[in-house]
Amino acid sequence: MDLEFLQSMDVQILAGVAVAVLAVVVTAAAFLFSSKKSKGCLDPENFKEFKLVKRQQLSHNVAKFTFELPTPTSVLGLPIGQHISCRGKDSQGEEVIKPYTPTTLDSDVGYFELVIKMYPQGRMSHHFREMCVGDSLAVKGPKGRFKYQPGQVRAFGMIAGGSGITPMFQVARAILENPKDMTNVHLIYANVTYDDILLKEELDSLAAKYPGRFNVYYVLNQPPEVWNGGVGFVSKEMIQSHCPAPAQDIQVRTTADEQGHGWHTLKLLDIRPRCSSSSDPSQLVFVFFIGVITIKAICYVVIKARPGGTLEGQSDVVIKV
Ligand SMILES: Cc1cc2nc3c(=O)[nH]c(=O)nc-3n(C[C@H](O)[C@H](O)[C@H](O)COP(=O)(O)OP(=O)(O)OC[C@H]3O[C@@H](n4cnc5c(N)ncnc54)[C@H](O)[C@@H]3O)c2cc1C
Repeated sequence: MDLEFLQSMDVQILAGVAVAVLAVVVTAAAFLFSSKKSKGCLDPENFKEFKLVKRQQLSHNVAKFTFELPTPTSVLGLPIGQHISCRGKDSQGEEVIKPYTPTTLDSDVGYFELVIKMYPQGRMSHHFREMCVGDSLAVKGPKGRFKYQPGQVRAFGMIAGGSGITPMFQVARAILENPKDMTNVHLIYANVTYDDILLKEELDSLAAKYPGRFNVYYVLNQPPEVWNGGVGFVSKEMIQSHCPAPAQDIQVRTTADEQGHGWHTLKLLDIRPRCSSSSDPSQLVFVFFIGVITIKAICYVVIKARPGGTLEGQSDVVIKV
């Protein structure tokens, strides 16, 4: 081999090594960046401050609050099905901490949003009512026992009341926007008046975008003159018509808001302590029940949407329909 050939070999080898090193560096950087990104911005032990960058009034007592994350590519890092704790001051200046579920997902980078219903006498409602763009909100999380895993069930039945819609919206959006998740979602959403319906535009657009995979049935206690949804309280007939039939791979979740609107609309459901065991587990529908009026407890319930049937399961509370 002559010197010229050896020199050209060296250059080729050096170029190859340089490309390989560059590839390793780029891959490592991408890995570090993505693992940093997926880590999220929440701390389960300590409150962190997030700046309010936009406030949009949706109705007389509901507003959408947009909070900035530390960088434009940051994600909040909240697992689907979980919520955050927000800290504020009530009208007496006393500290108050309440749970909220963002309506945004980790696919929404750089910010997160809360849709808040503000009650006249509500303690945390006072804090949100007073918040202006530029103010910061102290947030801790993630919180909650329920974590949604894609494909964990064949279909979800969701029964929500009032501001109890936000946890449902979060899960429904995550399911529908994940192309690998084929779970169907059936939502019954109960309110007192038409104006109380939260996220209606967003829910209707999900229904239009995912026909056959997402159905929403609105129920109003005081409907307008022209209304093609349900009227009164959520009944067993509504559940039978608009929720999936009971099966082992079907999960039904219900939520009600703090004023109990959801609770009242669901009051035809007969709630009683759970029974010890099921005679036919294949007939069970698993229900997750959150945030009910004064008891403010989180508990699991089991529904058997069959007239006269017994309702049993692994839960604290059983709903008979
Ligand atoms: C997992 C989870 C997620 C949630 N996500 C959301 C969400 O995304 N958006 C949302 O808006 N809410 C959400 N909530 C509800 C939220 O946590 C609060 O409970 C709600 O904002 C009310 O809190 P508050 O402190 O303002 O009301 P509170 O002070 O707890 O008052 C509750 C009710 O009692 C009434 N009341 C209070 N004091 C008096 C008084 N002296 N006299 C008469 N009536 C009184 C209030 O008007 C109100 O109707 C969620 C709840 C849970 C459990």
